[in-house]
Amino acid sequence: MKALVLQAPYQLEMCDVAEPEVPEGYAKVKLSAVSICGSDYHAYRGNSLLLTYPRIIGHELCGIVEEIKDGKSSVRPGDKVSILPYISCGKCHACRKGRENCCTSLKVLGVHVEGGLAEHVSVPASLLLKLPDDMDSKIAALIEPLSVSAHCVRRGNVGKDDRVLVLGAGPIGLGAAEFSRIAGADVRIADVNPVRRAFASDVFGYIALDPSADDFDQTLRAWTHEEYPSIVIDSTGNKKSNDVAINYLGAAGNLVFVGLQSDILAISDPAFHVREATVFASRVAQMRDFEYVLECIETGKIHPEKMITNTAGFDRAKEAFEEWFASGGAVFKGVIEL
Ligand SMILES: [Zn+2]
Ligand SMILES: [Zn+2]
Repeated sequence: MKALVLQAPYQLEMCDVAEPEVPEGYAKVKLSAVSICGSDYHAYRGNSLLLTYPRIIGHELCGIVEEIKDGKSSVRPGDKVSILPYISCGKCHACRKGRENCCTSLKVLGVHVEGGLAEHVSVPASLLLKLPDDMDSKIAALIEPLSVSAHCVRRGNVGKDDRVLVLGAGPIGLGAAEFSRIAGADVRIADVNPVRRAFASDVFGYIALDPSADDFDQTLRAWTHEEYPSIVIDSTGNKKSNDVAINYLGAAGNLVFVGLQSDILAISDPAFHVREATVFASRVAQMRDFEYVLECIETGKIHPEKMITNTAGFDRAKEAFEEWFASGGAVFKGVIEL
């Protein structure tokens, strides 16, 4: 089969590779759409903390089940599915606690094991979420990144009385703003990149702030009547942002870090203590997040199609990936159709 293989940093190649094996408990899925993620661009750049080369990348997936070797699964060949791209062990302490998204031996498709920028992928059948047959595959490919956003909003316990500041207006941040809005919160989004701010305000109607502006603090105080946001979600994966995010948080607030960076997180202890703040990490997502996102799409609470700025066929996948990578954030979400 054809697969887009990242041979080494900056070396993408369309290759002929063997069809994946389908062990007992697994299913073989024919891909129909793969959305490209910031972490795929990190891998391309050689900045991924965990990825080993060569690797078939791609973990935001929609496809049709071709073969299933799991008698217990309700999914059947021919079903349209979203794939939870995180393989957990089911045995470790995190898995036993129902926190399998932070399994100690978690394997992510397209990072630790082969991903879905290929004609087929083989995954544990328990990771399939059946979708309505008439759901657009491109929209379905966005269920994974939206679930990462939904997960961080759930981690932060966002509710209707909250004022939520989301730092970073990329796909994960914008998704976090959307699920906070759906939870009934009053939401603002902030990004230093004017292109990203314009997208959040023009396409999604958010008040988009510039955290590097001199009057940023003044703006937060005016919005919150001097209380500051009750929840701050930092999706930037940027140390400079992470280290100061606590300053934007109100008393008794929740601070959630969903973006990942490789440096030390340095939070001022007086700032942390005086607020009696609660700080959360948010890692990937769980099946319940996927189910919630699907429900939000089906009930029209969220419109993921507005995030898709670019599409390309699989035959042009390498060229499209390289163009989107070089766009400097102008491509908000690109989707490869197979
Ligand atoms: Zn992703
Ligand atoms: Zn585990």
